Amino acid sequence: MDCPGFERLIDYLDGLLDAASSEVMAAHLDSGCSECVTGRDWYEMVISIAASDDTVEPPPWVLKRAIRIFENARPQESAPARIRRLVASLIFDSLARPSMAGARLMEPDDHQLLYRAGDYHIDLQLAQARKCIHSADASFDLTGQILKESEYAFESVAGLRLALIRDDETVHSTITNEIGGFSFPAVEGGFYEMRIEAGEITITIAALNIL
Ligand SMILES: [Zn+2]
Repeated sequence: MDCPGFERLIDYLDGLLDAASSEVMAAHLDSGCSECVTGRDWYEMVISIAASDDTVEPPPWVLKRAIRIFENARPQESAPARIRRLVASLIFDSLARPSMAGARLMEPDDHQLLYRAGDYHIDLQLAQARKCIHSADASFDLTGQILKESEYAFESVAGLRLALIRDDETVHSTITNEIGGFSFPAVEGGFYEMRIEAGEITITIAALNIL
């Protein structure tokens, strides 16, 4: 069976297809089309991250951008092969595992996230910044480190450009230090896209929920 494509897959996952078309799509997934299976897993991950705080609905631009990022990240034969785009996947979220009693290594207010993209690991720590008593808006100190697997030196993680993007605008940017570390002080809570430029690779964290 021909692959119905990504748009159709998203319609299916959003429950927008009629019963007959849904059955076709379900059968296609069962047939093991790797592109569609990857797309489904990715979309479910984005949704679950975006919905992990059920008091906050992700703004629509988060999902729209995320879908665009994913489509751009898919290999295209016509695209020049110089810049490779990688979408980072979340492999650990300290808030998602409140049941890990006894394994608590962090201050109770810290939020730790670990992402992976290809050979790169991105470790993020969020701590609530000192709040101004006159302001209700929370802000967070975001610190982190980028590491590359199977590399003993830090050459390929030093001096990388990082940006926090909100609604198509870069709101914070920085450069990693000599061991791949970075910090964004006083970031306003909310959804961001984080983009890391590592030479010929651009790594994207599609929906980073800072809370
Ligand atoms: Zn397919």
